[in-house]
Amino acid sequence: MAIKVKFNNPFSTKGNWYKGNIHTHTTDSDGELSPKEVISLYKNKGYDFLSITDHNKLTYSAKLKKEGLCLIPGEEINGGKSIIGTLFHIIALNIKKEIIIDKEKTTAQQIINKIRKEKGEVIIAHPYWSGLTFSDLYPLRNYLGIEIFNSDCLYSIGRGESSVHWDNLLAKDKQIFGFAVDDAHRYSDIKYRPMDMGKGWIMVKALNKNLIMDSIKKGLFYSSSGPLIKNLSIEKKIIKVETSPVSSITFVSFPTKGKRLTASLINQAEYKIKGDEKYIRIRCTDKFGKKAWTNPLFIG
Ligand SMILES: [Zn+2]
Ligand SMILES: [Zn+2]
Repeated sequence: MAIKVKFNNPFSTKGNWYKGNIHTHTTDSDGELSPKEVISLYKNKGYDFLSITDHNKLTYSAKLKKEGLCLIPGEEINGGKSIIGTLFHIIALNIKKEIIIDKEKTTAQQIINKIRKEKGEVIIAHPYWSGLTFSDLYPLRNYLGIEIFNSDCLYSIGRGESSVHWDNLLAKDKQIFGFAVDDAHRYSDIKYRPMDMGKGWIMVKALNKNLIMDSIKKGLFYSSSGPLIKNLSIEKKIIKVETSPVSSITFVSFPTKGKRLTASLINQAEYKIKGDEKYIRIRCTDKFGKKAWTNPLFIG
């Protein structure tokens, strides 16, 4: 039987690569710098787009738009209780107006519904930091994906990665994307604590800057905390991936399946699709432990 692969491949899609961070805080909530200063920092670091996502506040104006970085209006909404009693943090992207909720009375799904009603996109922030489990995330509907890497959560308390949450959801047929973000609050290094900024981002393939959000919705991006993914092709059931020099390339799949290649230096790898994997996603890790992640290829 023919193997069907469902994957919007950014590497074979026409357009340019745009680097961006979609989770950022300013002095409008608990960030260290003003919106203007934050925009200028990201711009000077070579970013193409940014979403400022202050807590329960939409930081976005025509004046800020003029600062020279492509801005996606955003907000981080805290509310809805997890099984262990912690709050969900939910990222709303591309919203037209501020979303206001009563955090004691609103469930996570009601927050999602409210964002969707405003034509916004929904990403569940830092599941590991929030203490969310599969049972919290699986029942939710109409979200684009979850944060799989969050720089602030890593450098503050060491709970930055949520890939196991992602794998468990993918294994149970949730076709969602994975996002690396800064969740930047701190913009300078202190002892034992590097700044959040510039540590987790997405690379989006789009025809032009105005279409970045459309590409994010389609999954035309990969995430990184360091390495580059240079190409990914699928031909005759063979997935080929090319990366910057790393020390491992892993084809992460359904439990007990997949493959990892480890070497002192490796920059390409292949995997033959068998047909029973359900999904395959690629992760590469460099010698400093920095990673890059593709979105999942769904195998049917
Ligand atoms: Zn948060
Ligand atoms: Zn945040």
